[in-house]
Amino acid sequence: MSGIYIHIPFCKQACHYCNFHFSTSLKYKDLLIESILKELEMRRNYLTDKKISSIYFGGGTPSLLSRSELESILNKLATIYTWGLDCEITLEANPDDITKTYLKDLNLVGINRLSVGIQSFQERDLQFMNRAHTSSESHAVLDVIDQSDIKEVSVDIIFGTPELSDDELESNLQLVLSHRINHMSCYALTVEEGTALQHFIKTKKIEDLNDDQSARQFTLIQNMLRHNSFEQYEVSNYAKNQIYAVHNTNYWKSVPYLGIGPSAHSFDGQHRSWNIANNQIYMNCIRDGQSYSEVETLDLSEKYNEYIMTRLRTKWGIPVVELQTSFHKFYDYFIKLSKPFLEKQWMIFENSDSYKLTSQGMLYADHIASVLFYISDENEL
Ligand code: SF4
Repeated sequence: MSGIYIHIPFCKQACHYCNFHFSTSLKYKDLLIESILKELEMRRNYLTDKKISSIYFGGGTPSLLSRSELESILNKLATIYTWGLDCEITLEANPDDITKTYLKDLNLVGINRLSVGIQSFQERDLQFMNRAHTSSESHAVLDVIDQSDIKEVSVDIIFGTPELSDDELESNLQLVLSHRINHMSCYALTVEEGTALQHFIKTKKIEDLNDDQSARQFTLIQNMLRHNSFEQYEVSNYAKNQIYAVHNTNYWKSVPYLGIGPSAHSFDGQHRSWNIANNQIYMNCIRDGQSYSEVETLDLSEKYNEYIMTRLRTKWGIPVVELQTSFHKFYDYFIKLSKPFLEKQWMIFENSDSYKLTSQGMLYADHIASVLFYISDENEL
């Protein structure tokens, strides 16, 4: 079953670390939703499988959409696709948008999963990141969610911010754990190209981030969440009772998905495409019937690299049979290059069946994947 991703490219203000596509002007919100509805119609044949297992409203800030705006998109989707009661329908939401009434509305339109961008309960951290919400809103939102009918809730937490102590991080996690939250995504603050954070570091307004602090806090999170019955099923994602995020898991398992809206990516099993990351040009192109996306066809080595990058980060790892059948050409190469990581116990060959990262290896996931990548000029097979 395939998935649908809808990108809502608006935010109240720009977080200093963020390099996603969004606009802080909501002036063209109506027009943009109209364009999204048109794009859904134009691309109705993109997915061959019309039965879908997940719908994901991401952004940007999808919680800036009203009940009727969400309803219009879901109604349009229902004219093209079918889904069952178990279909995961997620909305990314910021704490300052969530009220009792809004949660009721979400429930009524069929949203059954919230992904809440709390990030921190420390006022100093929220201001450092230029988040639109306050610490008291971070606290209040979880009480409101506890009393709502939304089925599943995931919380995002950021660690590695310059002044975040281990004790403060522990208290952030403890606060989340005291509510009915079954899923957490914990991300290290990173310096992305073109962000305000990068500019502040370059101009020495603030010091560069501390890798040792990030590594230590990554391990602290692993230990604390494991101790509280959460399973780390991907480097940054933790779930209780095996309630894994369907949308993300589909992506890691290369399930086809259609991405709608400016900057949204799509994958049909063979090709990746991405829409232009500019609201005005996107809307004009949709209106005028002009092209607004680029497409790339992945060759075998690109598919292999993607497979390594996504699968290695997950608890399912790399099944040796799949590696042999789908990427036979790279099998010996993988086995040879993974040896040092097995020796360091950053990887294990579990049950002689799958190559997986250990808890310690999860910390080095990006480095390990980059070593295992096949780069043709340097590594002739
Ligand atoms: S709310 Fe989310 S998408 Fe918007 S600027 Fe902040 S991190 Fe980026």
